Amino acid sequence: MKFINKFNQSISALYFLTIFAIVITSYFTFKDVINSYNKSQHQAIIPLFSIVNSEVIRPLNIASFMANDQMLIDFIEQEKIDKNSLLQYLQRFSQRYNMLTFVALEKHDLILDSNNKSISLVNEKAEWYHRLKAQDKNQFSDIGNVDNPHLYFDMKLFNHQEEFIGFIGVAIDLNHFSEKFQEYSKRFGFELIFVDQNNDIMLSSNHLMKTESHHRKDETINIGQLDWYQNLLSQESLSQVKKTVITVESDERIISQMPIQALDWRMFILSPPVSKQDEYLQLFLAKIGIFILLIFIIYFFFITIVDYFKKHLVKDSETDFLTKLPNRSYLNWRFEELICQHDSICVIIADIDYFKIVNDTYGHTVGDEVLKEVASQLNANLRSDDISGRWGGEEFVMLLPNTPCQKAFEIVERIRESIANTPFQVSSSNHIFNTTISFGISESPTDNVSFKQLIEEADKALYQAKNNGRNQSIIFNEKATK
Ligand code: GH3
Ligand code: MG
Ligand code: MG
Repeated sequence: MKFINKFNQSISALYFLTIFAIVITSYFTFKDVINSYNKSQHQAIIPLFSIVNSEVIRPLNIASFMANDQMLIDFIEQEKIDKNSLLQYLQRFSQRYNMLTFVALEKHDLILDSNNKSISLVNEKAEWYHRLKAQDKNQFSDIGNVDNPHLYFDMKLFNHQEEFIGFIGVAIDLNHFSEKFQEYSKRFGFELIFVDQNNDIMLSSNHLMKTESHHRKDETINIGQLDWYQNLLSQESLSQVKKTVITVESDERIISQMPIQALDWRMFILSPPVSKQDEYLQLFLAKIGIFILLIFIIYFFFITIVDYFKKHLVKDSETDFLTKLPNRSYLNWRFEELICQHDSICVIIADIDYFKIVNDTYGHTVGDEVLKEVASQLNANLRSDDISGRWGGEEFVMLLPNTPCQKAFEIVERIRESIANTPFQVSSSNHIFNTTISFGISESPTDNVSFKQLIEEADKALYQAKNNGRNQSIIFNEKATK
């Protein structure tokens, strides 16, 4: 039994160890997730600068480089120009930097791009030329070409006398920006929005830019029209602080504003909405939940299997093989349990009379049958706390808690009579015989009692029953046995 208790303790320890391991693992997994989330947030910064630099600043620099090319200025200033040479010039830049290049020349009434499309300045598509020419600035970012919107970086061209002679610049398909920004947005979760000095949205990572761009409808969308910007204005006057990077936290998301001074633009970086971040957390928690549930299910099966084998193994070790009654070792253990739970206990020893003769006359197999039948009758009609077991050989012990001697006497007398009246048949010879049994009874209050002592007393009473002629029950009486 001590071994069983130890086994139970080990199983419980293992159980709590597993729970502990799960909690620790979950904690570190959670920490790892948070770390990698922070890392991914951090890693998003470098590509952001690179994307702004390569997609926005670089085209501007190329346009600026062409506008300051003195050889080109001299070439344009000629009375008559070779259109092919001009086209080659544009195409060289176009191919090297993979973007459309164009030039617009006042003197030659010509707009030419690297795709060899040329129009006159009076063409209605040259509307932008007159619009920008009239403005006081030298550098423009403009979205044009409604059917296939492009972002144009236009630079005014001046001759050596500082007179305006036309425009040169580059143009980038909005689909190109859309792809780049969406790729970024998908990877890092941030949305990007670029606005010009009038707060009109020039570029964004929003998918609408590609398919249903307002630019395609020749409309402008002012950032002031967006709800989140409205909310921010009430918190912080973003439009006032155009020169530095600032970050503000609204209810739903974190928004940073970064100036792109070369263009007089502002870039807005919008973190994923908190509700979306919660989704990630919920997803993570759900996964952990499933993991823990699985561990519990596996553990439950483990415990059940261990319990099943334990019960059967223990039962085997506690059961007498022939009669299927509890054996002597179990009776010992059960006695200790019963005296803790009850006020008094009655111990009865039963011994089959002249059993040696039964064996000798009819053989051991018949003797075994008699043992089984007697065991079954001793075990019948017991209360839940009563127990009958095989003590050894043809001797049995019964433990009846809270049963006075007289009551026990009545019980065993009924059993004794029943056994005496049970006919046994010898199958080989059809011979029928009867057997009898004697009982010794002893009872004691449970405080300060020993099993050994009660057994000895019951044994003395049994001895008396045998001496008195067998087939009877005797209650231990100290005076009588002396
Ligand atoms: P008494 O009335 O004084 O108790 O006489 P008895 O013959 O019953 O007592 P004794 O102690 O002389 O004999 C007990 C016999 O029980 C001897 C042994 O062979 C037999 N026995 C013990 N265990 C088993 C068993 O498992 N199966 C069979 N068939 N016989 C057993
Ligand atoms: Mg005996
Ligand atoms: Mg006997």
